Amino acid sequence: MANLNLLERLKAGEILVSDGATGTNLQQVGMVRGKSAENWVLENPQAIMDLEKQFIEAGSDIILTCTFGATRLRLAASGLADNVVEINQKAVALAKQTTKGRDVLIAGSIGATGSMMQPLGSLSIEDAQATFGEQAKLLVDAGVDLLVIETQFDLAEARAAIEAVRRLSDLPLVVSFSYDRGKRTMMGVSARSMFEMSNLFEVDVLGINCGRSLDENLAVLKELRSLSDKPIWFKPNAGLPEIDSLGNTYYATTPEQMGIQVHDWIEAGAQVVGGCCGTSPDHLRKIASAAHL
Ligand SMILES: [Zn+2]
Repeated sequence: MANLNLLERLKAGEILVSDGATGTNLQQVGMVRGKSAENWVLENPQAIMDLEKQFIEAGSDIILTCTFGATRLRLAASGLADNVVEINQKAVALAKQTTKGRDVLIAGSIGATGSMMQPLGSLSIEDAQATFGEQAKLLVDAGVDLLVIETQFDLAEARAAIEAVRRLSDLPLVVSFSYDRGKRTMMGVSARSMFEMSNLFEVDVLGINCGRSLDENLAVLKELRSLSDKPIWFKPNAGLPEIDSLGNTYYATTPEQMGIQVHDWIEAGAQVVGGCCGTSPDHLRKIASAAHL
């Protein structure tokens, strides 16, 4: 089936469903906490394809490549900097395999570098652009349908990523911030400052992924909708992680609790819905069935 472009589908008013979490779901099937999911692109690709298939079967119209941490800079933290080409190419190839013959778009995921920008940290704008540009080119050349710069919290870093992407690609671009402090990101970015910065560039879709609570993510969504006419990508987390008596991490928000809110998300202006940390295939199924009503 021919894939219609993301932007054409959004323009036609379609509500699309993205996917759920990567890291927290891979941990459920044995990935050790603290290990990066990109390791598993090389070591356990079957687990990544299984998860992608589960999301597609649950109703995803868009799945993200397992490349959230696959900039050279971030891979260096787990000793994988030399594997940057292989990991990005292979992650897209895995997604192509799982989406084969289906009307599902592949979004190339680009996450934060994990390093702080100057002057607070040591990362220069040039180095940030170089690492994002390298990853974006690999994802684009491997054949993704769109790019998602996600889990951003710092305006300068997000800007470097957007500039790097736009130098080499005119693919549909989603830019998504993580609102860890409720209505602001870890670095104090508000919906308004995110909106104003992204207006300087050709950003097609504004996004919110992760935060402190579903209610606070929804409040940010409403604020963003009041400012912008662009489509909004909304992937809240299934609450915050909690620890059970055996020391295992779990997310307390149930699939039902998440699914029941989807109508509010869409009414508030979300056009692509899904979930971030803690969002299992079961959560995604509830989200998709509510969104596709
Ligand atoms: Zn998350």
